Amino acid sequence: MAENIITVLLVEDSHISAQVIQKLLAESESPVFEVIPVETLSAAIDRLSDGGIDLVLLDLMLPDSQALDTFFRIKAHALDVPIVIQSGLDDVSLAAKAVQGGAHDYLIKDQLTGARLVRSVRYAVERMRARSGEWTSGMLHLAQQQFLKAAYIMDLDDNIRQRLLFPAPAQIVALPFRRDQREQVGTVFGYRVQHVLTMGPTKGGIRYHQDVNLGEVSALAMWMTWKCALMNLPFGGAKGGVRIDPTSLSRTELQRLTRRYTSEFIGSIGPDKDIPAPDMGTDEQVMAWIVVTYSQQVGHSVPAVVTGKPVVLGGSLGRNEATGRGLVYLVEEAAKHIGLELRDATAVVQGFGNVGANAARFLAQCGVKIIAVSDVTTAIYNRQGLDIDSLTNHVAEQGFLQAYPHGEALGNKEMLELKCDILVPAALQNQITAENAGRIDCKIIADGANGPTTLEADEILNQRGIFVLPDILANAGGVTVSYFEWVQDLQNYMWPLQEINHRLRDILTDAFVRTVRRMETEAVDMRTAAMIEGLHRVTQAKLLRGLFP
Ligand code: NAD
Repeated sequence: MAENIITVLLVEDSHISAQVIQKLLAESESPVFEVIPVETLSAAIDRLSDGGIDLVLLDLMLPDSQALDTFFRIKAHALDVPIVIQSGLDDVSLAAKAVQGGAHDYLIKDQLTGARLVRSVRYAVERMRARSGEWTSGMLHLAQQQFLKAAYIMDLDDNIRQRLLFPAPAQIVALPFRRDQREQVGTVFGYRVQHVLTMGPTKGGIRYHQDVNLGEVSALAMWMTWKCALMNLPFGGAKGGVRIDPTSLSRTELQRLTRRYTSEFIGSIGPDKDIPAPDMGTDEQVMAWIVVTYSQQVGHSVPAVVTGKPVVLGGSLGRNEATGRGLVYLVEEAAKHIGLELRDATAVVQGFGNVGANAARFLAQCGVKIIAVSDVTTAIYNRQGLDIDSLTNHVAEQGFLQAYPHGEALGNKEMLELKCDILVPAALQNQITAENAGRIDCKIIADGANGPTTLEADEILNQRGIFVLPDILANAGGVTVSYFEWVQDLQNYMWPLQEINHRLRDILTDAFVRTVRRMETEAVDMRTAAMIEGLHRVTQAKLLRGLFP
């Protein structure tokens, strides 16, 4: 399943039934269904052998096969593909036998509604995916590879290495929440993972995205551990998420889902235990709902349970833009280090959300010419430079960058390869890979996103002399101001913005200087140097605390 598209093999010999089903599935906006219709069992088996099918929607009575025989013959050719039966045979014992034999659902044709069909298909795919793929994540693989590389170079104690490869508590819950049509209940998977409990409470955002799984959340929690340790913050890493496309939900559905998520994890989160924050697909409004739900359950107001909430509810000044601002403080340091004059520099920014848009804004304030930006819909390129306020207004009005008039539309991949001085991948993981690293044409890469660069790409970039500000350093401004927010909430004393920015710059610059020093003394790349710097702190703490009992 890619990009929230589910490819359905529809095995149905009746034209009218096939048309009705295709029409019902076409009404769904998220997920989107790509339907491949076939009329016979043999055609279905042929198509399955080509791969790429997420689910089989199966009529049992076909010209070349009848009743349960049809199901078992298809199943023999599609062991890892869920099968939902849709049949004209309203026969309880047949349905029971089919489900017992491994069918994911048994739907009766003349009782079929759009909602019922979409739900059945979506849950079948989700169940199969939950069973087979929770830990199967490119991101976890990358986070573990990066960790093992650093552990090998620093000769990390093997007991600690084994422990840190996976999270400590990793929880999954099936989360029910009421849809706007009150009779419908949506069920999705929710996650909260705490990677290291040694350093203090744990800290990490909550991501709402259709690709979230246990592996991805664990990778993000690992990166949070190294990031907090590198910044000398008193936190271990954590992360949470819900596997859902948040753009498919109304505001009220989002609120009910968030409140349910909070109550499911109420025993694990808290200002002294685990403190969530926003990540992709969540924002300060989502954090406000978490504060309210948590506070209602414990009986008094607890703003410190999350960071990244609205200022009026105890949020910190400067938190919303802290990741982009911090990234630019670090670009300033990197530019000084390599002798790049920012006033003459150009930049390309992938992603125009919280991190990307703020990074672009602060870079422009340093005199950098932003020649291209992108979001999920398009990239916009203008060699003469883009106006960030005008782009921001366009996104505020239209929702996306698409159709922005003062630049040329480009593909996202093409954009990454534009000649520039500073490249900021601030959207997704896995963007700079062995495939395109050789064509990246910049002097500094500042990872705004988590995990945008693969290990193989890192090697190519280093060989080519591109200065990399790795994610655990480049995007650490967010968690650093989150730390300030938590401290302010615990003290009930709010700091002025100037003090926040001043402290932020001090902490990031200190981490930059330590990372560069380690890179030079240990002759490693910046990412490995940053990881080793963080890992040393975690290891020291673990060894001093010892193991219970
Ligand atoms: P966001 O949801 O505010 O913005 C994400 C942006 O990426 C949007 O503009 C979206 O359109 C774009 N995008 C999505 N898919 C894309 C694609 N295929 N190609 C190009 N653009 C695409 O999210 P955010 O908070 O800005 O987070 C972005 C990244 O930064 C994530 O990896 C997140 O984990 C990381 N991060 C965020 C923070 C923070 O404080 N928000 C802190 C540290 C790291």
